[in-house]
Amino acid sequence: MNFNQPLGGNEMPRFAGPATMMRLPSASSAAGLDAAFVGVPMDIGASHRSGTRFGPRQIRAESAMLRPYNMATRVSPFDHMHVADLGDIAINTFNLAKSIDIIEAGLTDIVQAGAVPLTLGGDHTLTLPALRAMAKQYGPVGLVHVDAHADINEHMFGEPIAHGTPFRRAFEEGLLDASRVVQIGLRGTGYADDDFDWPRSQGFRVVTAEECWHQSLTPLMQEVRQQMGSGPVYLTYDIDSLDPAFASGTGTLEIGGLTTVQALEIIRGLKGVNLVGTDLVEISPPYDMAGSTALIGANLLYEMLCVLPKVVAAQS
Ligand code: MN
Ligand code: MN
Repeated sequence: MNFNQPLGGNEMPRFAGPATMMRLPSASSAAGLDAAFVGVPMDIGASHRSGTRFGPRQIRAESAMLRPYNMATRVSPFDHMHVADLGDIAINTFNLAKSIDIIEAGLTDIVQAGAVPLTLGGDHTLTLPALRAMAKQYGPVGLVHVDAHADINEHMFGEPIAHGTPFRRAFEEGLLDASRVVQIGLRGTGYADDDFDWPRSQGFRVVTAEECWHQSLTPLMQEVRQQMGSGPVYLTYDIDSLDPAFASGTGTLEIGGLTTVQALEIIRGLKGVNLVGTDLVEISPPYDMAGSTALIGANLLYEMLCVLPKVVAAQS
């Protein structure tokens, strides 16, 4: 079979050519694809520093360094899956509510075509319509949520939909299988105990950053795999889960965060989980002076590709 391959650095200089994700071919529909990168250039759900509207473009630019073979895990995702870059979903940047519906429709198209969406954010509001699209196809899903924040606010400035509320809304709407939800990396200042206890009282597992300090997360991920079982799982990765020392190009920084090594352990630890969709959110290029936050994001999206069920099945 002829699979799409990233354009190699010996065919075209890495700094040249169209800036698609990993220099893959672009596609206008997900038909025939196994996995699809898609951008959501949105920051109108952000509460503090904005700029994530430029996230997809910058992640693509920094992804030019990525080569197709995963040296550590010996996985070659592009030999087993049809993958392309679908470009960006045309949100309405003047209207968050309409944008939410547009994102849900765009991701529904991808899921219904049989492809796994890997979404380049964009602020975290986008995960609510993503979960709506997932639940329509699969019913309530398990959720691996990596973040400094629980994002379970009742409302923000009176609004029910914003980047700090998606998992409260998703729970209320029945999009989540609450016993198969884990939130990893939570930390920082809050308003009250309830910020982290509300998810616990709904049956979510909460793993604070303090529980991750100074240790490998590989044992944790063994427990997460057991928790997720064989049902469908969505992975949402907020870049602010990482310590600002690694990823300062984001809107709401919290100190004492995860390392890039732990990020790799989390994603590689999802090998064997039935991932049906993923996203990487909250990269804000205006605050990412070295481009390293976007570079980390690009690498993490590639690692997600390497643990999708079709690749794992083909290489096991
Ligand atoms: Mn978040
Ligand atoms: Mn966050």
